[in-house]
Amino acid sequence: MSGFDETFDVVVIGFGFAGGISAIAAAERGARVLLLEKMPDPGGISICSAGGVRTTSSARDALAYLRATNAGTAPDETLRALAEGMASIGGFVEELAATSGAKVVHLQTDANYPFEGYRSFGFASIADVPGFDPRRDFPHVRGLRGGARLFRVVLDNVAARPIEVRLSSRALELVRASDGGVEGVVVERGGRRHSIRVTGGVVLACGGFEAANDMKIQYWQEKPVLPSAYLGNTGDGIRMAQAVGADLWHMWHYHGSYGLRHVDPHYPYGIRPTRFRDWTPGAALDPEGEVPAFFSAAQDMRMPWIVVDQTGRRYMNEYPPYSTDTGHRPMIHFDPVTQTYPRIPSYLVTDGPAFERYALGFPTYNDRRVDFEWSHDNRRELELGIIKRADSLEELAALVGTDVARLRASIERWNRLCRQGRDEDYGREPWSMVKLLGPPFYTAAVWPMVANTQGGPVHDAHQRVLNAFGEPIHGLYAAGEIGSVFGHLYLSGGNLAECFVGGRIAGRQAAARARSGPPCAE
Ligand SMILES: Cc1cc2nc3c(=O)[nH]c(=O)nc-3n(C[C@H](O)[C@H](O)[C@H](O)COP(=O)(O)OP(=O)(O)OC[C@H]3O[C@@H](n4cnc5c(N)ncnc54)[C@H](O)[C@@H]3O)c2cc1C
Repeated sequence: MSGFDETFDVVVIGFGFAGGISAIAAAERGARVLLLEKMPDPGGISICSAGGVRTTSSARDALAYLRATNAGTAPDETLRALAEGMASIGGFVEELAATSGAKVVHLQTDANYPFEGYRSFGFASIADVPGFDPRRDFPHVRGLRGGARLFRVVLDNVAARPIEVRLSSRALELVRASDGGVEGVVVERGGRRHSIRVTGGVVLACGGFEAANDMKIQYWQEKPVLPSAYLGNTGDGIRMAQAVGADLWHMWHYHGSYGLRHVDPHYPYGIRPTRFRDWTPGAALDPEGEVPAFFSAAQDMRMPWIVVDQTGRRYMNEYPPYSTDTGHRPMIHFDPVTQTYPRIPSYLVTDGPAFERYALGFPTYNDRRVDFEWSHDNRRELELGIIKRADSLEELAALVGTDVARLRASIERWNRLCRQGRDEDYGREPWSMVKLLGPPFYTAAVWPMVANTQGGPVHDAHQRVLNAFGEPIHGLYAAGEIGSVFGHLYLSGGNLAECFVGGRIAGRQAAARARSGPPCAE
């Protein structure tokens, strides 16, 4: 293509953590950087996150863990780059924090599953940013607070460097060079298309496909799967990469759980039940750095409910080791006899004491169009009909749409398991088991909910996007959750580690390519 409208060394598409870090890294290496964001506000999903960046005290042990948790779905070389990056990324977070005068906390926090190396991990998160008020600075965001603090720091660092940021600017397609690589990008802004030439490379940092219904329908068996925080991630980067020949991986894999649904059809997000706390030793401290020791807190937040299918049967461990990662997986059951998914929706069943215990829902979003706070005593949600009350088992059965005998059997069985202190059906941890004392009972429909996707273009240890033959597509890089390395089980904080480690590598690589032509590794 000739006749580009302008030229940059590096163009980064998407302004979440991965895009911000890629742009910072490229600018630090002297590149002229353009950072594009299609929405009017930056932040993506990143700004809603808990903001804990995974670190490690041993790259060797971290690699052993990543290998196990990925079960052969990503090559060692790529995992090694992430493991080595995690070993030094804490210092980088410190450097960024200094710009904002922010305080960083480093915690030793084991990984989620007891695979080899799981003890070698930690988190780096921002404890405090002077003068920062999330409700004032980001009034359209509801999230886990730590992500907003970390995003404030990334914003400050982008602003402190000669990076051109364009909001409401959507990348439409990549421009191919004569050698099959990428030499530019076409962008739409204010209804006008224009084309930008890149001398170093394009970094795809435009997230996954949480809000792309067409892709979710094609790649995932279960449906619908509710997005949990953000509508801007519609798989654009994946489609652009495909159009220039990229291979894809991990498209089936998403970080998710089961979530509640608002009765207002215009409210587009699933709602997390409060608060899935991980029960493995790895969760002894919360990455937000605000919640104290896990076991004392867990006593109060034991998730006092069971989940039953449409026939009233309990079928899952409601509180698996890492609930927000695999909580949705037992719902993926198709019954070929009835041609239905009898677990979508399922029903959360709880009772009066649980209803009184704490706010059962926790909305998260980065979206100016919605405004929803969960009431502290669940009363508003009861009035709205998100939660329903049943004054007898018969009423509960009617709400679930099943016969009362099946439901009674499920509840009696659960209470028996609680009395014996062992869930021999699904292995739920004894301390999390709370008897159901109703009536009254309370129930709410729950659906599979995606926090973020892991699939996308395959990349190598240099974050270069690879084609279907494993060859790099010159000038094209990926960072963040787009084409994440996680293809089996997730490591909490791993996506943010990918944003920071992968973003830094991608930005540096693209900048180096701008300076001296393709780097040696190509
Ligand atoms: C509630 C919640 C909590 C989480 N907590 C954690 C956590 O503690 N630790 C962790 O590791 N992970 C966590 N995750 C996951 C993690 O937040 C994400 O995987 C990560 O932030 C993704 O970062 P990203 O920069 O790749 O994408 P995003 O932050 O989503 O940014 C992508 C950006 O690209 C933009 N974009 C898309 N298409 C285009 C286009 N065509 N042109 C221009 N711009 C475009 C989007 O609008 C968006 O702003 C959490 C997720 C959720 C929902």
